[in-house]
Amino acid sequence: MSKRLSVVISQSPSKNPVKRKLEEDIVAALLFENGIDVTVVPNLYDIKPDSTSMLALNSIGGNVVVCSWLFERAAHWVLDRFGIAGHVGTVLLANEDEEDDEDFEEDDQEAADESSDAKPVVNASRDLPKRKIYCLDFKASNKADEFIEEVKRIHSENAVKVVTLGDVIGGSSDGSSDSLPIASAPVQPLAPPADGKKAEVNRIEESGGRRWYPVIDYNRCTNCMECIDFCLFGVYGVDRIDTILVEQPDNCRKGCPACSRVCPENAIMFPQHKTPAIAGSNDATASMKIDLSQLFGAPASGKSAEEVAAMERDEQLLLAGRDAVGMSGSLPKRSANRTDEAKDELDDLVNQLNDLDL
Ligand code: SF4
Ligand code: SF4
Repeated sequence: MSKRLSVVISQSPSKNPVKRKLEEDIVAALLFENGIDVTVVPNLYDIKPDSTSMLALNSIGGNVVVCSWLFERAAHWVLDRFGIAGHVGTVLLANEDEEDDEDFEEDDQEAADESSDAKPVVNASRDLPKRKIYCLDFKASNKADEFIEEVKRIHSENAVKVVTLGDVIGGSSDGSSDSLPIASAPVQPLAPPADGKKAEVNRIEESGGRRWYPVIDYNRCTNCMECIDFCLFGVYGVDRIDTILVEQPDNCRKGCPACSRVCPENAIMFPQHKTPAIAGSNDATASMKIDLSQLFGAPASGKSAEEVAAMERDEQLLLAGRDAVGMSGSLPKRSANRTDEAKDELDDLVNQLNDLDL
């Protein structure tokens, strides 16, 4: 069985020599590993839809390890936004501030379940491809060796041999993924496959400039539509089944994180924001029970998250030559309409049942 693993190295946008050295040390060490392909791209968050980097990322199939300077959760949902969706792969090399991140998919789900109304999150109804995406945060360590060890561990995990009925009754397994696993059969970890083929490096160098846009964590988002009501710059939209999405990312105002403060589920990230809670740090926001207004507002100024968000939005409106709108300014409430529509549908259903005279 030969199963190659793809590793993506997302470079720092800052060109800081210390950061660049860590990235290059990891690439150089991976060159000596069997069964690994490496793709080096510019900063993940800045990649544009029509770029060579995007083409390269989309051509990667199967499980993938992505090393970037973004928080793990932010990197995962940036990729998801690019159409590179999958399940969260558990990583053991975590940013110290992110120790709870190992299972953030599960943590988020539990937190969402425990939240007051336990509204379903968007991700619960999505049909994700059967692939794992392992996001490693370069901030977790300044030692290339630790990243290499973690990549090798993930590679071994991915090369775990599935013992099939054929193995148990004396036949031989071809290791094909179509073979049915048997629950009681022992699972043998294998060394990373040595197919004699050293790492191949696909290095993409292009510069499309810095970007700034919101990234939605669909493991938290409950599709409440607060963000689309709040943003007056046409950034958000909905898809065919009325699910929120970031439709016009480049309409977002550089440096403005306002809507992340009004999202009731803390599902909106700005991965390059200096405040970890807004940039996607799981540690800062893991518990849904914490007072988000303390985290996202400006407690020192005595202002709530909503007040800070309204001020930030006004600032951007004025910079764009428009009028400030204050706390009251919002688009017609889609969230309220949705509630009314749902209520109307329920009323119709009840009326129909009454008409049946059961
Ligand atoms: S405000 Fe937007 S991102 Fe946040 S939960 Fe509601 S729909 Fe989702
Ligand atoms: S940060 Fe401001 S401009 Fe950007 S999407 Fe949110 S509200 Fe709109």
